[in-house]
Formats: sequence, C-alpha cells, structure tokens
Amino acid sequence: MDFVTRWLPWFQENILAVVAIVITFVLIYHYLIEKEQGLKLSKKFRDSIFEVQSKIFLNASQYLISGNKDLAIKEFLNAVDLNRETIDTYFALGRLFRSNGQIEKSISIHRSLIARENISESTRLQALKELAVDFDKGGFVDKAIETYKDVLRINRDQYEVIQALCRIFENIEDWEQAYNYRIMLSKVGHENQSETISHILVQKAKIYFEKEKYKECAEDLDDAFRFAPSVSAKILRLKLWLVQGNIDEAKALFLELLKEEPIYTSFIFLSLEEFNPKSKIYNEYKERLKIIKEYFLGLEDAEMLASASVILSKIRLLKDFARSTEAYDLLNKWITSHPGESDVLKMEYIKLLIEVGKQPEALTHAQDFLNNIHKSLTRHFCSHCGYNSDQIFWRCPQCHNWETIQFRWKV
Ligand SMILES: [Zn+2]
Repeated sequence: MDFVTRWLPWFQENILAVVAIVITFVLIYHYLIEKEQGLKLSKKFRDSIFEVQSKIFLNASQYLISGNKDLAIKEFLNAVDLNRETIDTYFALGRLFRSNGQIEKSISIHRSLIARENISESTRLQALKELAVDFDKGGFVDKAIETYKDVLRINRDQYEVIQALCRIFENIEDWEQAYNYRIMLSKVGHENQSETISHILVQKAKIYFEKEKYKECAEDLDDAFRFAPSVSAKILRLKLWLVQGNIDEAKALFLELLKEEPIYTSFIFLSLEEFNPKSKIYNEYKERLKIIKEYFLGLEDAEMLASASVILSKIRLLKDFARSTEAYDLLNKWITSHPGESDVLKMEYIKLLIEVGKQPEALTHAQDFLNNIHKSLTRHFCSHCGYNSDQIFWRCPQCHNWETIQFRWKV
C-alpha cells in the first residue's frame, strides 16, 4: 500500500518513458533471440520481424514525441546500450521518419547518434551523412551544404555526397561552387563530366554577359570550350562576337552551328534575340543581329534547306520583315517536296495562304490538315505514362495502372 502511494504519481508522470524503456528491452530481447536463430530463420520471416520492430519503434517514438519532442528521442536512445543491430535499427528508423516526411524526428535521431561517445568513427560518419540528407530533403539548404561539407572534411572520397552538393549548387545557381564540386566529382568518379562542366561554365559566363562584363564572360567561355564545345557555349560565343562587332567570325560560327545542329535553328534565334534592352549597345547589337538574319535568309544550302527547323526559322524571319510573298514561295516549294512531314509548317502554310490572299487554297489545305491530324492521333491515352491507343484499356498495358485512360481533347 505504501509502495503504491509512493510510486503511483511517479509512474503517472513518467509513463511514456517507462513504456519506451520497456519496449526497448523487449526489442533487445527479440534481437538477441533473432541473432541466435538468425541462420535458421527464413529471410521472409526475418523481414517480417524487422517490420514489426520498426513499427514498435515508430509508435513508441511518436508516442514520446507527442509528449516531449527532441529530448524524448534522446532519452530513448541513451536508455539503450548500442550494438551493431540496434544502430542499424536506428538508421532504419531515421530513414523511415524521413520517408514519412517527419524530418525533424529523423534529424533528432541522427543528431543523438552523432553526439554519442561510444560509437565507431564510421558510424558517426554514416550518421552525419544521414543528417545531411535529412537537411537536404527538408529543404534546409544552408544546413545541408554545411553538413555535407563536414562529411567531406572527414572523408573526401564520398561520391554521392559530392554529387548531392553538385545538385544543390546547380539548383541554387551558384555556378562557382557547382563548378568546384563537379571538378571534384570528376576526380572521385569514373564518369566523364566534361559536358556538364562546360554547361556550368556557360551558365557562369552568361551571368557575366548579362552584367555586361564581357572580358570575364569570354574567359569562362574559353574554359567551357576547353572542356566541351557544347551548343550553348557556341551560341553564347556568337552573341559575344556580335557585342564585339566581329561580324565575320559571327557569320562563320553561325554557319558552323547551322550545319552541325540544324534542328536547333529556331532555338538559336530565340537565344540571339535575348538581350538587355537597357544596355548602351542595345541598338548596335540589334543592327548586327539583323546582319546575321539577312545572311541566314540568303543561304541557299540544299542540305540545310531540307531541315524543317531551318525552314520554320526562315518563314518567321521573312514574316517579321514583312516579306510574306517570299515566305509563301519558300514554304510552298518545301511543302510540295516534303508532304506530311511537319504539322507546324503545315499550319504556317495555311496562315500564309490567307495572308497572301489565296483563300480557296487555304480552305482546301485546312480541311486536308484537319482530316489528317484526326487520323494520326489515337483517341485515348494513359494519363500516367502516355501510352496511346484507340482501344479502351481500363488497365494500362504499358504501366499497369488502373483507370488512367483519358480521352484526347487537345491535339
Ligand atoms: Zn500507362
């Protein structure tokens, strides 16, 4: 009686901690049993035990956390003597919390693991890595960066950590750091990073270009070319030539680009159009760009003129220059020799027919176009994977999802 009156209030106050400790001991007991019988148990059975254990851990911790967040977990962790199995379970628990979106809880687990004295250095490193991933997934960018860097301070040979830092710096467009870590990645890994490094340097150069720091822009661009002559590097260099008034070099580079990548033609012109209207040299730039446009319109290379992208760019430029009749002649010739090759050009063609006053032809072509477009499209598609079919499929034959079928309302 005396015992009950003395201990009952204590029990009531500490019931959560008591439950947690009891569960922990039950768990350890199970672990020991499992360890001894480990070899005899089937994998399936061991997996199910593990699942139950994780659930118990999860519940116990959630229970605790509703009472006393951070400290509860810390107490809980400190209450047990850590061995290899329990450490693995804590890592599993941390990952469970993280995948559940309960980042704060996985952060406390990993933090308390790191703070423990009696763990090996490799475990501490693992916990630090997990903590960095927690911050990363939780969107705490600065803390993620710092923690990933801490990991690298202990051990530099961490491919996925460096990769994570590359991703973060590319996301926040810190191209200086993105470049440094990509270089580091190329030393640790076996993959060739030249293409990516070139793209990063072009991004860096682009920022200088926007700030009109053309000297720095040219330097980074030279570096980019040293790693790989990407299309984006060539387009930026072309813009730089225009800024500096090197028209001959610009023409030569433009021609080179067109011959190598005719499908990017309309993209090249879009990029060239982008220029700060507040710049002092805006008008000069536009004048020089006009020279390139005229040069392009004058090109009669047969191979180049077979590309739909080149034709589309020419048509658009001619229309901008109010030269609709020339645009019509060019497209009329192309459509006749490449029937049914491009819907976009066919649409341009119909618009041009109206513009040059050929209404009856426009109607015939429009009708023809609508009939064809209907034939070329399937009636249904899967909203999950895009699988196309005229049949009705309640279970998608490609991604096996149910009821993802959609009627195609838009072309
Ligand atoms: Zn599908």
